[in-house]
Amino acid sequence: MKEVILIKEGEIALKGLNKSGFEDAFIRNLKRRLNPLGELDYKKAQSTITVSPRGEDVDIDEAVSRSLKVFGAAAVCRAAAVPKDFEELCGFAIDYIGEAVEAVKTFKVEAKRADKKYPLKSPEICAELGGRILNAYPHLSVDVKNPGVIINVEIRDNNAFIHAGNITAAGGIPVGTSGKALILLSGGIDSPVAAYMSAKRGVRLWAVHFESPPYTSERAKLKAERLCEKLSVWCGSITLFYVSLTEVQEAMRENCPEEFQTLLLRRIMVDIAQRIAEQYELQALVTGESIGQVASQTMHAIACTDAVSRYPIFRPLIGMDKIEIIKLARMIETYDISVEPYEDCCTVFTPRHPKIRPVLSEVEAAQSKFDFEPLIKKAMDNIEQKRIIL
Ligand code: ATP
Ligand code: MG
Repeated sequence: MKEVILIKEGEIALKGLNKSGFEDAFIRNLKRRLNPLGELDYKKAQSTITVSPRGEDVDIDEAVSRSLKVFGAAAVCRAAAVPKDFEELCGFAIDYIGEAVEAVKTFKVEAKRADKKYPLKSPEICAELGGRILNAYPHLSVDVKNPGVIINVEIRDNNAFIHAGNITAAGGIPVGTSGKALILLSGGIDSPVAAYMSAKRGVRLWAVHFESPPYTSERAKLKAERLCEKLSVWCGSITLFYVSLTEVQEAMRENCPEEFQTLLLRRIMVDIAQRIAEQYELQALVTGESIGQVASQTMHAIACTDAVSRYPIFRPLIGMDKIEIIKLARMIETYDISVEPYEDCCTVFTPRHPKIRPVLSEVEAAQSKFDFEPLIKKAMDNIEQKRIIL
C-alpha cells in the first residue's frame, strides 16, 4: 500500500477542448510548489492529479497543505492507493483507517465508482466494507447522518483509493493561463487581496509600488516586498517595481488645485503603470479599489482614472465590502503586514476636501497646470526592481 495525494480539479474539469493546456499549466504550478519536498511522480486521469512520492522521506502533510494553495485545485486529500480487487481492498482499508477511527465512535462509508465496470455497485461496497470495519473495530457504530468520520472509497481506472475525506482547496484556474497583469500594490489591506483574486482567475502578476521618499520610509517599501512574499504562495514568483513619485507629488502640491490632488496622483500612477505594462508586454492593470470606499473610488472618480488608461483596469474587489476584504486578507496572511502603520505616498499630501464627484474636464484642467511628462519620464528611468522568488 502506498500513500498518495489526490488533487481534484475544479473549473479545469469543465474546460472542453482546451482542458489539457490548463492541466499542463496546473501540473507545472504543482511541481514548482511540491518538487522541493522530494521526488514525486504526477499522473493525470479523470480530472484528478495523483501525486506519488517515490521514497519514504516526503512530508505528505506539507505536500497536502501546499497543494491546497495552488489555483486549479478544488479539493485535496491524502489517500492510500490500493488494489481494486475487493478482498485486498478491504484488507488494506481496515489497516489504513486505524488512526482515523481511533478517536471517533461512529463512521460511514461512501463509495464512488469512476470505473463503471467494477463488479460491485457503490451501495454494495459501502455495506460490505462497512460490515468488515464494524468487525475489525468493535468500538465503532455506523451513523449515516452525522458520522465521526467518513471512509471514502474511490474506484478509478487503475487503482482504488481509500481516504478520510477531501479538504476544500483554493479553487480558481492555474496561474499563467489567463495572461499577465500589473497590480498596483500599495501597503494597504486591499491591493494584496486584489492580487490574490486576479491570480485565482489564472492571471500572472507583476507588481508596482509607488513611494515618496523621504516622506515615505524604507519600511513602507519593505512592506511591499513582504506582501509580495506572502502573495507568491498563491501567485508564484513576482517581479516588483518601485517607482518614486516624490518630485511628481511636490510639483503637484505647488501647482495643482488641492481638491483634485489624490485623483491626479491616481491618474499618474495609472499612466506610469501602463508604461510598465507596455514595456513588459502585460495586458491589464489591477487595483484594490472598491466602489464608494473613499473619495477617489466613487464612480465619478474611477471614471476620471480610467480615462488615462489604454489598458483595461481590473478591480476584483469592486463588489466587496471592507469586512469581506479583511477576512480574505487574513486568510492569505497579508493582513498583519498591511496594518503596520507606515505612511503611504497617497496619505502624505492628502487634500482636506477631495472632490467626490469630479468632472473629467475639470480634472484634466487641474492636471494641465503643470507639465508632468519630464518628471514621469525621470521616475520611469529610475525604476528599481526586485524579483520575489517563491
Ligand atoms: P489599499 O488598501 O490597497 O491601499 P485603499 O483603500 O487604501 O487600498 P487607495 O489608497 O485609494 O485605497 O488606493 C486605491 C488603489 O490604488 C490601491 O488598492 C492600489 O491598487 C492603488 N494604490 C494606491 N496607493 C498605491 C501605492 N503607493 N503604490 C501602488 N499602488 C497604489
Ligand atoms: Mg492605500
